[in-house]
Amino acid sequence: MIPRRKTRQVKVKNVLIGGDAPVSVQSMTSGYTHDIDKCVAEINKLAGAGADIVRVAVPERKDTEALKEILKQVSVPIVADVHFHFQRALEAVEAGVHKIRLNPGNIQDRAQVEKVIDACKDKGIPIRVGVNEGSIVERKDKQKRLKELGGVFSNNKHGHMLAIMVTKLEEYLDIFYARNFYDITISAKSIDPLMVIDAYTEISKRFDHPLHLGVTHAGPKETGTIRSVVPLGHLLASGIGDTVRISYANDPIYEVQDGLELMYILGLRTRKGAELIGCPTCGRIQVDLFTLIQQVNNALKLEISVPIKVAVMGCIVNGPGECEGADVAIFAGDKRGIIYVQGQKVANVPEGDKVVDILPPDPIGELGSGYAKIEAERAEGSLSLPVMKG
Ligand code: SF4
Repeated sequence: MIPRRKTRQVKVKNVLIGGDAPVSVQSMTSGYTHDIDKCVAEINKLAGAGADIVRVAVPERKDTEALKEILKQVSVPIVADVHFHFQRALEAVEAGVHKIRLNPGNIQDRAQVEKVIDACKDKGIPIRVGVNEGSIVERKDKQKRLKELGGVFSNNKHGHMLAIMVTKLEEYLDIFYARNFYDITISAKSIDPLMVIDAYTEISKRFDHPLHLGVTHAGPKETGTIRSVVPLGHLLASGIGDTVRISYANDPIYEVQDGLELMYILGLRTRKGAELIGCPTCGRIQVDLFTLIQQVNNALKLEISVPIKVAVMGCIVNGPGECEGADVAIFAGDKRGIIYVQGQKVANVPEGDKVVDILPPDPIGELGSGYAKIEAERAEGSLSLPVMKG
């Protein structure tokens, strides 16, 4: 188990962030918040995929007006993402939202920030202070502190930006502390993965508030995955980070799926559902393993809630070892597949025959019920040992 940095815990409706709480996974809706039905559907879809917290944008008054109705129809905690207009934060709090996100780069007026703090304090709602690199890059103020921190960070490639971020945070958080408000989380996102690592590492040394990890504008999923999981994985493996949002220019469902997978592989959350291990294939395969792995993967996505380990392997080099260590496995070679359940060979399937049909109906108690579910929901003949082409 990775030892985690001690942070001051906050509560977002029924979800705890920081302290000894598990690292939560967040996402954000991609549609208009004022389109109530679509917004509710998207929130519920993300929650169904495992999102612990969902954020919605509230750029206009009609968005905060929609919140009251939206909140009646969802159970996952909702965060209102506020930029430029502090009134949106006040309206969102009034509507009953569970957390506010403020950007020090675009809501800077002290009196306005104080009004939001007081409203949140009154309702017991936390605030995330999000200092995205992109929104503070032009700041030229706080020259003295920048000079001091510039010396501290002089050996760092991102020294100037780190100094600006830390200075901005110190300045902004002083407003909160002056009003005895400590229900705060912090984010310091950048598009540069190495900057993300440096920023969160430095901030983790200076503040004890829970950290919301993320890479801003990570781009399409194809490249955004690596851009995101490298810094987030590094930080989480170092014990830094209390909640994460992976952001892709794609359906946010992928953000939730990949965020959860990151938690699982780091052992920060207990896996729900199946873990699929598949060999990358090479010149030794004798069945169409890519198709088989995809078929098994699709079948496993059908709401398998049991944490089973499933292996699909292509030959005798690593196949038997991986298969014997898995709960359920297919070792496909020599134009046939051997099915293992809990390390025991239970069947031999010739190429072209259906794989799942030959599994015992309830091979290992509860694990078997997961497979019964696959059986019940998959289309007839959809999971068969594919024939090698060519
Ligand atoms: Fe190649 Fe066999 Fe390894 Fe698969 S398990 S990559 S087929 S050596």
